[in-house]
Amino acid sequence: MRRALICLLVLACGCSEDAPPPPRELVLETAVGAEGVSADVAFEIPEGTRSITIVVQGADDALYALGAFALGDQAELVHLPAGAPGPAMQMTYEQEQIGQLAGDLYQSIRLGTFTHVYPYRPDQNVIAGTGFLRVASNRSGPVTVRILMPEDDGANVLPLNLYVVSDTLADPNTPEFRSEVTRLFAQANVVVTFNGVERIPGTALERITDFSEPQEAPTSMSAMLPGLVADRMATGLDIFFVEGLPAGVGGLALGTPGPPIRGSYYFGVVVRGGFPAAELARITAHEAGHFLALQHVLNRGISGRTYPDPLDDTTPGADNLMEGGTLLTPHQAFALSRSALLITP
Ligand SMILES: [Zn+2]
Repeated sequence: MRRALICLLVLACGCSEDAPPPPRELVLETAVGAEGVSADVAFEIPEGTRSITIVVQGADDALYALGAFALGDQAELVHLPAGAPGPAMQMTYEQEQIGQLAGDLYQSIRLGTFTHVYPYRPDQNVIAGTGFLRVASNRSGPVTVRILMPEDDGANVLPLNLYVVSDTLADPNTPEFRSEVTRLFAQANVVVTFNGVERIPGTALERITDFSEPQEAPTSMSAMLPGLVADRMATGLDIFFVEGLPAGVGGLALGTPGPPIRGSYYFGVVVRGGFPAAELARITAHEAGHFLALQHVLNRGISGRTYPDPLDDTTPGADNLMEGGTLLTPHQAFALSRSALLITP
């Protein structure tokens, strides 16, 4: 119906017969009802779209995911089990500490702001046309849905903005660090560029003392780091080097995947400084890999159950950047290549 109306309007004003292409960024408002899902939210997917990134922004203490998602062929991809999704979302996030919603779409449930990037496997394709989605939550209330659909233009450059959140931490931006981060991403045909390093002294965030599973909360110390640089105009991904993280944590991504939206409290990754350059580079690449697209090859829930990533060519225990190693597989490279954070040279 809407298409017919647009055609009539175009004819009436004597313009070209071709309607303008739909916008590649949308901001839509909807609300989650008492049954735990929103109404259908329709959106136009332009031809030649690299990926669809859906960011749902809601209440800080509510869990969000997609209750339905369809591309231009209108085929629903989530297939949520019957009943309100809230209890199952809380169980996997809070008790199992995995945050993976049952259904056919691999998605990471998230507190406050949820992000999904499609496609995340090489056998998935973006189909242009009118798609739709529904937001699922354990709480009712309004949400804002941002949809980013960048052009499939071969963009493969990932700029990194390095921030040293410390008075004393050594500058991580050494040639050895840069060349190793560059080498790790080159495996996925991603060209990393460095926008330089900026020191941010005198904050109360030099030592991050809280950490939560499966991911950080909007009220965590880590999620306050992006606010330090929310006014910067830089493109690319923000990397925050801090003096301390909780024991055993070398770095953390503020999203897996994270929202590619500057100003979000989840925009960026955090790395503990002080490691030798090669290890600092490996941690940085691992966390940036999370932020763009990648899961651990295998996660283990509190129950002991294991949760593999959604890719077919990764192997638990093998040398891989998303375990303790450095290699990336072709399917991981594909997932990274879909990120809306990538720009053309
Ligand atoms: Zn990790």
